[in-house]
Amino acid sequence: MTKKNEEKLKFSAEITKVLQLMIHSLYTNKDIFLRELISNSSDACDKLRYAAITEPELAGNDTNYAITIEIDAENKLLSIADNGIGMSRDELIANLGTIAKSGTQEFASKITGDDKKDIPLIGQFGVGFYSSFMVADKISVTSTRAGSKESFLWESDGIGEFTVKPAEKSPRGTKITLHLKDGSDDYLDSFRIRHIIQTYSDHISFPIYLLDDDKNPQQVNTGSALWMRPKSDVTPEQYKEFYHHVSHMPDEPWMVMHNKAEGKLEYTSLLFAPSSKPMDLYQPERKTRVKLYVKRVFITEEHADLVPAYLRFLRGVVDSEDLPLNISRETLQHNPMLAKIKEAVTKKFLTELKKKAESSEEEYKSFWKNFGAVLKEGLCEAYSPREQLLDVCRFHSSNNNDDNLTSLESYISRMKEGQENIFYLTGENLNTLRQSPQLEGFTSRGIEVLLLNDHVDDFWVNVVQDYKGKQFKSVTRADIDLENIKGDKPEEKEEKPEAPREDIDKLCQRIKEILGTSVSEVRTTQKLGNSAVCLATKEGGMDFRLERFLIEQKQIAAAAAKILEINPKHPIIRHLSEKSDANIDDAVWLLFDQARILEGEEITDPAAFTRRLQSFVEKSLAA
Ligand code: ADP
Ligand code: MG
Repeated sequence: MTKKNEEKLKFSAEITKVLQLMIHSLYTNKDIFLRELISNSSDACDKLRYAAITEPELAGNDTNYAITIEIDAENKLLSIADNGIGMSRDELIANLGTIAKSGTQEFASKITGDDKKDIPLIGQFGVGFYSSFMVADKISVTSTRAGSKESFLWESDGIGEFTVKPAEKSPRGTKITLHLKDGSDDYLDSFRIRHIIQTYSDHISFPIYLLDDDKNPQQVNTGSALWMRPKSDVTPEQYKEFYHHVSHMPDEPWMVMHNKAEGKLEYTSLLFAPSSKPMDLYQPERKTRVKLYVKRVFITEEHADLVPAYLRFLRGVVDSEDLPLNISRETLQHNPMLAKIKEAVTKKFLTELKKKAESSEEEYKSFWKNFGAVLKEGLCEAYSPREQLLDVCRFHSSNNNDDNLTSLESYISRMKEGQENIFYLTGENLNTLRQSPQLEGFTSRGIEVLLLNDHVDDFWVNVVQDYKGKQFKSVTRADIDLENIKGDKPEEKEEKPEAPREDIDKLCQRIKEILGTSVSEVRTTQKLGNSAVCLATKEGGMDFRLERFLIEQKQIAAAAAKILEINPKHPIIRHLSEKSDANIDDAVWLLFDQARILEGEEITDPAAFTRRLQSFVEKSLAA
């Protein structure tokens, strides 16, 4: 072994930052370093077991994958060894020090020094290995990559640099030796170590051995895949630890779904819905993260496509008994068996979700706040179980305050006699939605309107026709006839007379002449209360927000002309109808622009708008 082969390298800037924090750590819960090292060893065993399916010589005769922990109290050493995939020289350098992996930078910027907040982040951001520097002032990693004859030693005291050099041939896999800091002596206590393993790592499916005083391996964990155990044998704590392990999420699972399917399709699934939003929830790839196992062998997390994109917040595993072990990751997507599992898992989850939604409204609200918008993406997809999805959807409504949500079923139960449709209004935020003139005629008659304020709502309402036979209808549609619905009597303070029919018809014509092609039609409506006018879209036309979105995306060139609806009971309209022969152009344009503003549309001609408004203000001040 020549000195020439020793390389001294610097940690990347982000890792240096993370290391500084670990070295000077005041964290009280330092135990988690062991969980992180065991989790890495378990991953390494999974990787080799998978690789050995196609290249058995990589594993050779040594296929009893295991993790072995040894305490050397005299020399204050604690080591964690595995016979997994191991690391080559380059991998040691890349994985343990030089390359800032994605997320590390973000981690470095998020750490606060407060262990309640930071400790959960450690696993999540892929800096688990470095947490060992909380308890060790030097770490030695010896590793032999499966299939290689060479072994290497990586060493560092965590301050700025690390070295890598060839080492004497060691068994396949990785051995991590921690030189424990003063004050970390309790990790030399085998009872303590045993307790930590049982607390955090019992779910690991490989055996974890602790060497006793005579160097005999004593298995500490149960050592079988957690998902294969009967539900009654698994404690909530164990589910939670397993959830942390598979998801790298720091929160509590909101829902645990553990299920064994037998019959035509044989598989076991253990899925978790998180109680907070994963960081990558809105990344454009919409990656799903359920791990695929075949007969307990880990196959892949990527490309498995075990749940649809609209359930991408789910974490966990699916273990199939039917798929061939040597299935290649590349052909997975086209496997019909997987498609069937996906369908079954989706159905099962939505069924469970419905039960939960019905049993605990409050808890369901917190789930819906996190993932409702993602679930609704499913409504836009061609082969999704729409009815089942709609069953679990919850909406804001004009009948409720912001804190309360309604299901469609309960909306329908409140529908008025003669009401055929589920009415909705989409918009940016609840506040503006509640103020919209479009709602006036509905709310004054006690007719409930769903308020849809998620972006995805603009899309699914164009795809989904109905729920339980009731058609969805935007209140901005021009053909809504409120007179046929036996709503509550509009509470009118003073009975407002409508202008005579022929005057109104004449006014409509005049307005159309004045506005020209800016509107497609001018007509009366019963929808309005305190407002004089509003815009509406044709039946079958595009909703305002979707249209604006498509224009932004350059999918369509320009907005279609809207219908202007006027309120025949409104004083302004009455006055105008008496003077349709006079010059009412300015007043009409002002009303039209005002209606546009309320819909979030741009004013056609801002200069003209201001000039008109100014002249009205002047006149009213002079009067
Ligand atoms: P993460 O596990 O989230 O990737 P870690 O800091 O825990 O982050 O580990 C960094 C990387 O080092 C791992 O991704 C893996 O490639 C490598 N590694 C760590 N421990 C082992 C091990 N026991 N065997 C093989 N590779 C390992
Ligand atoms: Mg790790």
